[in-house]
Amino acid sequence: MSKITINKQNYYHNLDLLAKKAGGKEKIMVVIKDNAYGHGLDIMAKLASEFGIKKAAVKNTEEALHIEQFFDEVLVLADHPSEHKISKRISFAVHSLEFLKTFPKNSNIHLNIDTGMHRNGILMGEIQEALTCIKENSLNLRGIFTHFRSADDLNGELFWQEENWQEAKKEAKKELKALKLDLPLFHSCNSSALLRNKAGIKDDFARCGIATYGYTHIDKNIATYDLKPVMSLYANRLSTRVLRKGQKVGYGGVHLAQKDKVISTYDIGYGDGFFRYNGLGDLKIANKQEILGRISMDSLCVEGDRDEICLFDDVSELSNYFSTISYEILTKLMPWIKREVI
Ligand SMILES: *Cc1c(COP(=O)(O)O)cnc(C)c1O
Repeated sequence: MSKITINKQNYYHNLDLLAKKAGGKEKIMVVIKDNAYGHGLDIMAKLASEFGIKKAAVKNTEEALHIEQFFDEVLVLADHPSEHKISKRISFAVHSLEFLKTFPKNSNIHLNIDTGMHRNGILMGEIQEALTCIKENSLNLRGIFTHFRSADDLNGELFWQEENWQEAKKEAKKELKALKLDLPLFHSCNSSALLRNKAGIKDDFARCGIATYGYTHIDKNIATYDLKPVMSLYANRLSTRVLRKGQKVGYGGVHLAQKDKVISTYDIGYGDGFFRYNGLGDLKIANKQEILGRISMDSLCVEGDRDEICLFDDVSELSNYFSTISYEILTKLMPWIKREVI
């Protein structure tokens, strides 16, 4: 059976590095949305909690209910409360005035302010209206946050947006005081914004996803970081045969044997969430052996007859190959693949 291994030592190495940047473990919220970027929600929640992390962010209420016992606070990023009585530990990101007005009384919320990404969040000019609504509807404001659009890029956009964020914070604090509301926690940095920070963060905590799993897409001309990939993917042998010179293997027969060779198929395919390779390039597995021919739904083919092969222990090359980002390669791996901590 195929499996994913989770390297605990590497995970803790990354968390350590990020906690040092942020100024302490308590200043890290681990982002474990989307099955912890494919690593396995339960496993990563437990490991983070054992490391001493107290806050996590997830995609929806279902994920939150699943792992809330491991944390003091679980922030739901992309869902609305489905019931009126929901655990005290769970709070919801509010992305617009429209939806702010629909939240049940006493809901725990984090208010998102749009400081330039223009994806989600209330406008800067709506801060007063939003806070007034929060007070009138007796919502429990636990946090105010924003999200940066260009934290990876070699230009000044991050600094421009950080300035907008400082403005927004100032404005929010002024209105909170006027309304006699308590100060909530402020947060803005994702992994990249935190890593790029030189002087420690001004916020109460940072929301870290991809760097905890060992990757960053920060432009290499800005800096490189000592992060270690956490996930490896293994596949097991399904069958072995001799492919004779002149024979072709797999759909479309796109791989032609130039000489006799022993080949085997292994139990990972695009149905498992591994990207579909069309067999026309030179895509390689972890030990640099080529994948032979097209990837099928449930299998792929490699020369030799080893019982187990490692498909990757670092997805950087794969994500370059498929012109995507590490996030996508990791997140797509199906939840049914067995996960094992090593
Ligand atoms: C996914 C997400 C993050 C984490 O981003 P990384 O780049 O993986 O660190 C942080 N904040 C919000 C709002 C997100 O949606």
